Amino acid sequence: MGTIHDYTDGTVLEDIAKALHVFRKNDGSLANTDIGQRMLGNIKKFEPVIITMDQAMDSIHNASSVAIGERVCRTLHPDSVFTESVFLDELAEEMIQKGVATPCTADEAKQTLSKYSKHPLIISKVSGKHQEICRTHPPECVYWIAEKKGLTCLARIKAENQSLPAGTQ
Ligand code: SF4
Repeated sequence: MGTIHDYTDGTVLEDIAKALHVFRKNDGSLANTDIGQRMLGNIKKFEPVIITMDQAMDSIHNASSVAIGERVCRTLHPDSVFTESVFLDELAEEMIQKGVATPCTADEAKQTLSKYSKHPLIISKVSGKHQEICRTHPPECVYWIAEKKGLTCLARIKAENQSLPAGTQ
């Protein structure tokens, strides 16, 4: 998985850029290719889960710190649609320290995420727990592009009021 340090020193951005490069230079499905399986392994380390707003709010209410910031990958696509992410716990603290996120209350986090309701919510594991809730922009999101390339990486929680799977928080 990525670490908090990867988020603050730019490594995560380099990794996203490399993954997008591979996706764009290979037409068609990568499902049965060695490179596809390697990429899937790397992406799955983030244990990304598609969540509802209620599930996002559960994670936000349980967090020791909460912060709002531009979604991380938008730096690579500055002309793309603007959406924001909510960072939790230690990731929130480090992103605030770095100056790329602003501390907020749970209500402010909810208001922010509500602004981009057409953008799917995905929570990702960073440094061992789910700490990044992104209002994703599917045309430029590694997870959504991986899925289009036949690399199924996104977990889906069916029940509206179901919590994240045990051990994933
Ligand atoms: S849109 Fe996808 S790749 Fe970009 S920061 Fe959000 S989860 Fe990561």
